[in-house]
Amino acid sequence: MNESKNYAKPHESILPKVYNINMNEPRTGQSQPPVIYGIDERDRIVLIDGAWDAFAVANHAEHVISSQVLHTSLWEHCRGAMVEQVYRNLLQRVRVTKRPIEFIYRCDAPERRRFIRMCITKREDQPLITFMNQIVREELRPYQALLDVTAPRRSDELVAMCSWCNKVRVDESGWYEVEDAIAALKLFERDACPEITHTICPSCLARSEAELA
Ligand SMILES: [Zn+2]
Repeated sequence: MNESKNYAKPHESILPKVYNINMNEPRTGQSQPPVIYGIDERDRIVLIDGAWDAFAVANHAEHVISSQVLHTSLWEHCRGAMVEQVYRNLLQRVRVTKRPIEFIYRCDAPERRRFIRMCITKREDQPLITFMNQIVREELRPYQALLDVTAPRRSDELVAMCSWCNKVRVDESGWYEVEDAIAALKLFERDACPEITHTICPSCLARSEAELA
């Protein structure tokens, strides 16, 4: 990858402390190539590289393979109004300052917790903004049907999940790791999983706003 130097030294950092991750720690997921995409000045996806297609297929998301999303708007693929607003704020920041922003988010699979480092970088000489996603840690967990997109769903039930920390809202009592939320909501007693709606939890929202202030 010729552009790797552009991603190598992020200058800003959001959220690593949330997960107790040393950004310089050896990357357990480094053997996997990063997922890379880029947008133009109108937020259209104009670049897809790295492990995009392999990651999409492995996670039962064949509808977003590169041939399907190239030249579409980034926002067609962003789930949840609050998630979109946070990313719009991040993009605005990168475009204005021309400095990279880096943060850790979770993109869990049914049987593993995945910690992913995202680096959003503006090319100096052109409008292209690139998003590089590298798995920095993976932890095995017992299978969680809630995270299995192939599990049968029940349309009249919704649970909110934070797109950054993957915690699930449990009524008014707060946001919990998937396993704890399933126990609290007694989801294991159901025949089918509820639908997931994506948002940003108050904790992640506050940290993103603090970093962007
Ligand atoms: Zn969160």
